[in-house]
Amino acid sequence: MTNFLNNFNNLNNVNNTVNLNNTGTLSNVGNKIKIGPTVTMFVPYDCNNACPFCVNKDEYRDTSDFSIERCYKSLDILNRIFPHNDIVLTGGEPLADLDILQDILEHIEDTHNIYINTTLPTNDSQDERLIAKTLNKFKDKISCVNVSRHLRHYVKECSDEIFDMLDVRHRINCVVFEDTDEQKLKAFLDRFKGYEIQLRANYSKLSLDNVFMTENDDLFKLISSVANYEGQLEQELFRTGFMFKYDGDTVVTYHKTLPYSKINGKVGDIIIRQTGYIYDDWNNYGEKLDINSLVELPY
Ligand code: SF4
Repeated sequence: MTNFLNNFNNLNNVNNTVNLNNTGTLSNVGNKIKIGPTVTMFVPYDCNNACPFCVNKDEYRDTSDFSIERCYKSLDILNRIFPHNDIVLTGGEPLADLDILQDILEHIEDTHNIYINTTLPTNDSQDERLIAKTLNKFKDKISCVNVSRHLRHYVKECSDEIFDMLDVRHRINCVVFEDTDEQKLKAFLDRFKGYEIQLRANYSKLSLDNVFMTENDDLFKLISSVANYEGQLEQELFRTGFMFKYDGDTVVTYHKTLPYSKINGKVGDIIIRQTGYIYDDWNNYGEKLDINSLVELPY
């Protein structure tokens, strides 16, 4: 799951009055305060998908230096610096191994909001019931499970019945491509009516010039044509969102985020790579983080 997804990198809770702020102000998401930048951990477990917009897939081609042990050490170090920030588990696939996922969740202190980006992968050894049971065990610890479902079937999808089995907060996350029209979008929104839905632009097309704008934004116009616009979510260093209501009460957010998180030297997201090493940005943009820089930044 890509973190934009993802991360979503990170997930604005539209039901809360205060949102995340990557420039370092204190925010309140769910019931926990957030101080400091989000830590996004790319789990060292691949998904079996090949989404065309994925910017993480290359990282999973060579797994020889992957280390979950180093990931734990990095989580511990960052927990000591930022005991109250958000943590996003992404990949790859955080639910590729449910035992290890539980171990990771138990390892993370209760002071953090935890977000998980996943496709909810099923196979011979884990069906929908087992996945739901595992996630529900941590319903008080997980702030949101962000589930990738797209207009085209880029990911292997399990039965939609799983959504009714989940007691943990979850949200449908969909990357919308340029060829989507009103009819296709409405069919998708109808499929998930009543759930939280997050629509995302193809982030590889976004830049600092257009990420915060709605003018000349075809996707914004398309969503506006089928749903009622309610307002803009907080603008962060490298992302923002817009909230809509579809057919009554279905909350739809349109999320825009850059494919990088460091702007003018400011670190938006701290990344734990699959190797367990800590980076200052995603993918090819990132460099190993100078931990000293964290004590200089005004978080
Ligand atoms: S599910 Fe798709 S977007 Fe997510 S990591 Fe796999 S290939 Fe990339």
